[in-house]
Amino acid sequence: MNIKKSGFNTKLIHAGEINDQFCSATVPIYQTSTFGFESAEEAAKCFAGESDGYIYTRIGNPTINALERQIAVLENGYGAIAVSSGMAAVTTIYLALLSSGDHIVSTDAIYGPSRGVMENQFVRFGFQSTYINTANIENVEKAIRPNTKVIYIETPSNPTMDITDLKAVAEIAHKHSCLLVVDNTFCSPYLQNPLDLGADIVFHSMTKSINGHADIIAGIIIAKEEKLYNQLRNMMINLGCNMDPHQAYMVIRGLKTLSIRIDRATENAEKVAVFLENHHKVAWVKYPGLKSHPQFDLGKCQMKLSGSMISFGLQGGYEAAKMLMNNVHLAMLAVSLGGIETLIQHPASMTHSKVSVEEKIKSGITDDLIRFAVGIEDAEDIIADLKQGLEKI
Ligand SMILES: *Cc1c(COP(=O)(O)O)cnc(C)c1O
Repeated sequence: MNIKKSGFNTKLIHAGEINDQFCSATVPIYQTSTFGFESAEEAAKCFAGESDGYIYTRIGNPTINALERQIAVLENGYGAIAVSSGMAAVTTIYLALLSSGDHIVSTDAIYGPSRGVMENQFVRFGFQSTYINTANIENVEKAIRPNTKVIYIETPSNPTMDITDLKAVAEIAHKHSCLLVVDNTFCSPYLQNPLDLGADIVFHSMTKSINGHADIIAGIIIAKEEKLYNQLRNMMINLGCNMDPHQAYMVIRGLKTLSIRIDRATENAEKVAVFLENHHKVAWVKYPGLKSHPQFDLGKCQMKLSGSMISFGLQGGYEAAKMLMNNVHLAMLAVSLGGIETLIQHPASMTHSKVSVEEKIKSGITDDLIRFAVGIEDAEDIIADLKQGLEKI
């Protein structure tokens, strides 16, 4: 059977399989830091790259590699590099691709720390960055400079839910000899495959939907070509932000149900979005599955489903948002997303609190914006919870 030719759900269950001597049904946890060699000659061959035995877990480990093989297949990439967290993926990518004096163009409304680390830390190393609304594709070409090396996209953007046209942005990137990097965390490989649309590198915080059970921090980078893959893997090995075998096992376990979890969460989110849009205390709702979303058609085109993330604002602004967050009981007031449980949070004072006030306004992270991550509970219960919370305002 050629696993690459099978359907997505079959890949979820079988793409990471290991053929060990016991025919184990699941990938065993190789909880070891180092691996012995049969002989000095064999050791030398391994280190010379002439044989592919395992050496040391920071470099490679059978449990971690099973997960990497599986995600590479799910994203149609050459190879994947598992890392300790989503932020480890972000920093590995920045450090592998940029040198002092290089410039990056990025979506403005992205995961807060992905921008924070660039503007507050890596600026010391001479990295230059421009943040723009990439959903307006004209902004991208205008922002490119002679020293631009990377275009960095999050779509839908976080937390504004704007959609960037991946095909169009890939064309612009390549026309200017830039690499296109996409943070695909919001969608997971089930909903969107940016490498198929022209991206060079995709990464995920697997803390979110890929693992899906709110019990692990993890990340992964997928490269389209061998050269980029090697460049990224070498950087990961030297930074030492490798995944741990037990962590890999947990992600492999969570990953198997990715599609059924996202199907349910999306079904719920669609109902929640309609409920919110029809509620008189709600000022606006931004959800890719609503006709009112300005890029509804583009979303349908590049995303398999609309996903589980909703942004909305209340008539009463931040004061009303606080009252809602303090009065919901089923939805947990917490950051993160893509898990089995419903979460609510306020980006301006929480995940994006480090972004300056001017930049928040510029990138649409308004004071009234509530980010709602829909879980897989019963839609009726999630809606009833919101309804009673809204009544308290
Ligand atoms: C959570 C998240 C990250 C960072 O991942 P960690 O696993 O928390 O380090 C990056 N990008 C997006 C879109 C995220 O949601």
